Amino acid sequence: AQPTTSTFKIAAVPADGVGTEVVAAGRAVLDALAAGSGGAFAFDWTEFPWGCGYYERTGRMMDEDGLERLREFDAIYFGAVGWPSVPDHTSLWGLRLKICQNFDQWANIRPVHFHPGITSPLRKADHIPLDWVVVRENSEGEYAGLGGRNLSGRGPGNEVALQTALFTERGCERIIRFAFDLARTRTRKKVSSVTKSNAQQYGMVLWDETFARVAADYPDVETESVLVDAMSAKFVLKPEDLSVVVASNLNADILSDLGSALAGSLGLAASANLNPERRFPSMFEPVHGSAPDIAGQGLANPIGAIGSAALMLDHFGLVDEAARVHKAIEATTAAGVLTPDVGGTATTDEVVASIIDHL
Ligand code: ATP
Ligand code: MG
Repeated sequence: AQPTTSTFKIAAVPADGVGTEVVAAGRAVLDALAAGSGGAFAFDWTEFPWGCGYYERTGRMMDEDGLERLREFDAIYFGAVGWPSVPDHTSLWGLRLKICQNFDQWANIRPVHFHPGITSPLRKADHIPLDWVVVRENSEGEYAGLGGRNLSGRGPGNEVALQTALFTERGCERIIRFAFDLARTRTRKKVSSVTKSNAQQYGMVLWDETFARVAADYPDVETESVLVDAMSAKFVLKPEDLSVVVASNLNADILSDLGSALAGSLGLAASANLNPERRFPSMFEPVHGSAPDIAGQGLANPIGAIGSAALMLDHFGLVDEAARVHKAIEATTAAGVLTPDVGGTATTDEVVASIIDHL
């Protein structure tokens, strides 16, 4: 009998700046993996030219039927969106957030992982292998877009603006349950919930109460509730005490950047925007932005994007292959093949070649 090949259809959206360089890097790694799979699996890529350059030519960040076309794919592999010539809210809402919202990607997973051979500003990382996961609520909270400008009606000098955060019991519960389910898959079964409920007494108190209620269903998982200011300190002072950290949209956004900086560079951080029900495609992308300061020079660290490709493999059920990619990344950093952001002199392509060698 002929072996059957599982083919995964992936929409690549490199978008802007280093996004194009790191998406090419991730594709090369996945294609090398597929080539070595003996026909067990394959990736069928379709690349979309959307982003700020597309906006400048057409007046749109993506095609009008773009979402319908993306819906047909098993996953979206995204680069980075944004360029100095286009206002941030236009580029972000016109492409990335539009995809996140329409495909109900309500869980944003951002692992914080320390690599051998990469110096962390945390000295204890030299002797304790650190890794934890930030689980970010990705559909409401502080980024719900509620509020308005010019509310005083009294003109310049007297403006009043209102920015409202939205917390629903359903939204809190599903992301908190997601965090507990994830904790059960990890060696350290612990969930840390982060709010600022001493100062934000409506939505974040609802979050805290929901956390306590859901926690009762997971007696095997250790829990703690920590205020975001204290958690920022804990990231630096006691990171070995973390496993899964769940927080609202804004708090988790800030904490995950802190985590990737502690690991050594923003260029290392991977992320997945998941629609856990799998009614729509999920999206995999590095945490970093388009990095206009280094774009087009072959200097971008591809590890965040390649780690995001590994999260996509996990999502496809290719768990052993995802682990192989992580091992190949670690072998590369341990050998000192590093881009300038983490103290090396290697180019993006040299890092990719080394990772593929170690596969
Ligand atoms: P966004 O608003 O999209 O989050 P940002 O303004 O926060 O973007 P980035 O584009 O992520 O900024 O860049 C922040 C800094 O990190 C820049 O100095 C950039 O060069 C650096 N950086 C980002 N990504 C990488 C990468 N893959 N490799 C090396 N350096 C990077
Ligand atoms: Mg940023």
